Amino acid sequence: MSALSVSRQLLQTMVWHGWRSSSSKPAPNVHLSKPGAGFSFELTDEQKEFQATARKFALEEIIPVAAQYDKTGEYPVPLIKRAWELGLMNSHIPESCGGLGLGSFEACLITEELAYGCTGVQTAIEANSLGQMPVIIAGNEQQQKKYLGRMTEEPLMCLSAYCVTEPGAGSDVAGIKTWVERKGDEYVINGQKMWITNGRKANWYFLLARTDPNPRAPASKAFTGFIVEANSPGIQIGRKELNMGQRCSDTRGIVFEDVRVPKENVLIAEGAGFKIAMGAFDKTRPSVAEGAVGLAKRALDEATRYARERKTFGKPIVEHQAMAFLLAEMAVKVELARLAYQRAAWEVDAGPHNTFYASVAKAFAGDIANQVATDAVQIFGGNGFNTEYPVEKLMRDAKIYQIYEGTAQIQRVIIAREHLGRDRCLPRPLSFWQQRKKKPSLANLHDQKVNKI
Ligand SMILES: Cc1cc2nc3c(=O)[nH]c(=O)nc-3n(C[C@H](O)[C@H](O)[C@H](O)COP(=O)(O)OP(=O)(O)OC[C@H]3O[C@@H](n4cnc5c(N)ncnc54)[C@H](O)[C@@H]3O)c2cc1C
Repeated sequence: MSALSVSRQLLQTMVWHGWRSSSSKPAPNVHLSKPGAGFSFELTDEQKEFQATARKFALEEIIPVAAQYDKTGEYPVPLIKRAWELGLMNSHIPESCGGLGLGSFEACLITEELAYGCTGVQTAIEANSLGQMPVIIAGNEQQQKKYLGRMTEEPLMCLSAYCVTEPGAGSDVAGIKTWVERKGDEYVINGQKMWITNGRKANWYFLLARTDPNPRAPASKAFTGFIVEANSPGIQIGRKELNMGQRCSDTRGIVFEDVRVPKENVLIAEGAGFKIAMGAFDKTRPSVAEGAVGLAKRALDEATRYARERKTFGKPIVEHQAMAFLLAEMAVKVELARLAYQRAAWEVDAGPHNTFYASVAKAFAGDIANQVATDAVQIFGGNGFNTEYPVEKLMRDAKIYQIYEGTAQIQRVIIAREHLGRDRCLPRPLSFWQQRKKKPSLANLHDQKVNKI
C-alpha cells in the first residue's frame, strides 16, 4: 500500500471513529445554561488535522506549479489525483458509497486551503462536487451507489460535471432549451450546454433539461434532472475555452444529439429537476465562497510580505499609513467573508433551508475576493501588473467568483427575496404610519375637543 493510500485511510479512520459527529453536526442543547455554549470558534483536533493536510498540500505541491499550469492551461491531473489520494476530494460522499460523509463545514475548511494554493485547481475539484450534489440530495440508493461509488474507487480520475447553463440561458435557468423526450424505457436528449467545468474530464454529467413541451408550464414542473454517462453516443464535446483566469480548469460547450438515457437515470421523477438543480446550489455556494476567501487570504499574505520588503522614501511601504490601512481593510474583509462562509456551511449541516446564508456568503466573498486581489496588485505597484509576481493571476482568477454558480446580481435577487420573506414573519413594533393611525395627533385631539364644545 502506498504512503498516499495510508494517508487517505488515516483520514477515513478519523471520520469513522466519530469525528463527523463531534464536529459540525449541531450539538443537542444540553448546556444552554453555560454562557457561550453552542457557539465556538475553536476547531476540533480532527478539523485542524484536515485543514493542516490541505494547507501542506497547497503550500508544498500546488503553489510551486500553479503559475505553470496557468501559463499552459493544462489540466492539473497529478494534483487532482493527489487530492483524491489525500482524501481531500469527495469528502461529502456518503459513507454508504465509500466516501467520508463529512459535513459542509469540514469540506469548506479544506477548500479554503486548496484555493489558497490555486483556484484553478480548486474549481476543478469543486465542479466535481457540484456535479455530484444533485445525486447526493436526490439520488436513490441504486443511483448513489453506482455513480457516487465510482468516485471513491480506483482508478483515481473519476469526475462529474454539472450541465445546466446553455448559450442562451445562464442566470435565467428556466430559459434553457435542451429538450428530452421519453421513448419507451429511455429518454432522448437534444440540445446544447455551455461553460461546463470538467466538460471533457467528467465520467458522468448531471443534466437539466425540459421535459414538458408546454412553454407555460411552471419551472417547478417543466424540467427533469438526469444522470448521463459522458461516453454516451451522440455527445460532442467542444474545445477548451480560453478564459481570463482559473486557466487550468477545463470549461467547454457540449452538444447532445439524440443521446439516450435509461429511465433509471432520472433523479426523483419527471418534473423534479429544477428544484434539484437549485437545491444543489444551496449546498455548494458555501464552498464557492470559501474558494473566494482562500484566494483573498493568499492576496493579503502576498501583499503583506511584499509591503514589508519593498522600500520607498527610505522605509518599507508597510510603514506608510496608507499602505498599512489598506492591508487592515483587506484583513477585515477576509475575516468577515470567512465568518460568512462558515455560517453558511454550518447552516447546510444544521438544517434543510440555508438559501439565505449560502447567497450572503457567496455574494460577499465573491466581491471581497475581487477587492482584495485588486488591492494586492496596488500594493505591488508596477510589479503587481506583471506575470512574474503572483498577484496578477489572483486578480484574474478572482473575477469568476462574481459570475459562476449565480452572478453577484442574482445572489442579491435571492438575498432580497429571502430577506423580504423572513421580514414578513418577524414580530415588530407598529410602523410610524400604523402608530399615527392608532394615536390621534395633537391636531386631531384639538379638533375633537372643539367639536365636543
Ligand atoms: C469559467 C466558467 C465556469 C462555469 N461552470 C459552469 C458549470 O460547470 N456548469 C454550468 O451549468 N454553468 C457553468 N458556468 C455558467 C455560469 O453559471 C453562468 O455564466 C452564469 O450563471 C451567468 O450566466 P450567463 O453567462 O448566461 O450571463 P447572463 O445570465 O446572460 O447575465 C448577464 C449579466 O446580466 C445580469 N443579470 C441577469 N439577470 C439579471 C437579473 N434578473 N437581475 C439583475 N441582473 C441580472 C447578470 O448578473 C450578468 O451580469 C460557468 C461559467 C464560467 C465562465
